[in-house]
Amino acid sequence: MNEHAIRNVVIVGGGTAGWMAAAAFARFLNNGYTRVTLVESEEIGTIGVGEATIPPILTYNRLLGIDEAEFVRATKATFKLGIEFVDWGGLGERYFHPFGSLGQDLQGVHFHQLYLRERTRRVLPDISAWSMSAVAAARGAFAIPGREAPFPLKELFYAYQFDATLYARFLRGFAERHGVERVEGRVVDVGLRGEDGFVEAVTLADGRRIAGDLFIDCSGFRGLLIEQALGTGYEDWRHWLPCDRAVAVPSALAGPPDPFTRTIARANGWQWRIPLQHRMGNGLVYASDHLGDDDAERLLLDHLEGPALDTPRRLRFVTGRRKRCWNRNVVALGLSSGFVEPLESTSIHMIQSGIARLLSLFPDTRFAAIERDEYNRQMEDLYEDVRDFIVLHYKATRRDDSPFWNQCRTMAIPDSLARKIELFRTKGRVFRDSFELFSNTSWVAVCLGQHIVPETYEPVADALDPDKVASALEQMRRAYFATAERLPSHAEFIARLTGAAPPAPPAAPAEDVPHFSFTAESPFPVGTGSPV
Ligand SMILES: Cc1cc2nc3c(=O)[nH]c(=O)nc-3n(C[C@H](O)[C@H](O)[C@H](O)COP(=O)(O)OP(=O)(O)OC[C@H]3O[C@@H](n4cnc5c(N)ncnc54)[C@H](O)[C@@H]3O)c2cc1C
Repeated sequence: MNEHAIRNVVIVGGGTAGWMAAAAFARFLNNGYTRVTLVESEEIGTIGVGEATIPPILTYNRLLGIDEAEFVRATKATFKLGIEFVDWGGLGERYFHPFGSLGQDLQGVHFHQLYLRERTRRVLPDISAWSMSAVAAARGAFAIPGREAPFPLKELFYAYQFDATLYARFLRGFAERHGVERVEGRVVDVGLRGEDGFVEAVTLADGRRIAGDLFIDCSGFRGLLIEQALGTGYEDWRHWLPCDRAVAVPSALAGPPDPFTRTIARANGWQWRIPLQHRMGNGLVYASDHLGDDDAERLLLDHLEGPALDTPRRLRFVTGRRKRCWNRNVVALGLSSGFVEPLESTSIHMIQSGIARLLSLFPDTRFAAIERDEYNRQMEDLYEDVRDFIVLHYKATRRDDSPFWNQCRTMAIPDSLARKIELFRTKGRVFRDSFELFSNTSWVAVCLGQHIVPETYEPVADALDPDKVASALEQMRRAYFATAERLPSHAEFIARLTGAAPPAPPAAPAEDVPHFSFTAESPFPVGTGSPV
């Protein structure tokens, strides 16, 4: 053991961030000398939203040794194959951003380049017809592929849609069983060490004092340690992402849960629709400069598919990130570290990513600056990658039906994003930096879905025989459809996995928008005069 080893880790906050951190530390710092204590206040409560995730969460659960069926039962989870975007590129349009890959590369040439070339020869369906996850989603079908799954089932990638409060509770059980001590109480004071301003201890309302070597700030938007005590500062991104409010409400399911999240662009923001086993999660994210809170609530309630199950919750946020996620001996995780709106369901992933990076750069009591700086650099990059990808959805639109969309469509964007858009616009190129979260699939799906149509394709695509490529594309497409046809319905799969009775069919499907399908007209121009 290193004589300078951290012996006491104190986590402040017991929301999704706090319990994800506690569970991971219980598993990975199980070294006999690091004690983990989590302080939370039931009186303050948690944010109570956060339902959709992205595939890396599977790795988090697996590393903890969590049984998938038990987890799905405990959190009322459904499976998510991607996100359907409605009315984003233009009113009346829809596209699907799937998990996993788009088609298969041939002889080292990216699939989407071959697709772009083939589109110059004939009208093709939407590119998501070459995604196993999207094709299964369109049929409402799902199965866990398993390690030995053959092509193309092995290309089915998924994440979960769950009740984040239940997830935190589930992880609390795990963490406490593995030795984490939970302390109930409200932190009223943060004591700083005279010589260097490091946090020494937190004091609770009843006078108890909890000392530590390393503090993890999971106190949510208030940033109790990282901001209120250390004054770290916040970078505000509202000029790129003008939405700063949300209203959320659960509703009754109007049918079997879809294996995907839907986001519908509205005149002044967008609405989420996340089906869980027992209810639908709904919310409207909007810009307060353009829409009042009462109108937002009414708009959301008017667009529910089933009766509301609770009173709507109103939330305020400032999109941006903490200037340093790690300051002195405090590491901020979750909402205390920053927030980029939930359009691509990235917040819980940011928590996971922060935990993974902290474990790989875990300090000792000397707190080497190099470890802290590397952590901050990596988190900064991650936040900016997510920001750019979200800004893309607002910028790349043809919508001109409201001042909100006019503002988004014409706004200046970060240089890093402008470069990516131009690279895609010229020859459909996507380059991913080493730690970048979003894959080629993500960039291609969103760019094409929102009218960033490449002028042409890469010349390497012309090296392949066009007829052979056309036949390979057709074979792939048929294989995705044939495989999806053999999958159980999503509801049947969940019932089988959890041992529950399958849900009764709905009396009448009530939806304000039909599901996407590949027979619908492609939302982007196909077979037009331009090379692509
Ligand atoms: C509108 C909206 C929608 C979202 N949707 C998604 C989504 O679909 N997918 C996704 O990944 N993420 C989503 N998120 C983000 C997600 O909700 C959060 O990332 C996640 O819940 C983590 O929150 P947290 O634990 O950081 O904070 P919180 O849940 O706010 O927890 C803070 C904790 O700190 C405690 N605390 C605070 N002050 C004190 C004190 N003085 N003393 C003691 N304890 C204290 C509280 O009691 C609580 O336990 C969404 C967020 C918003 C705002």
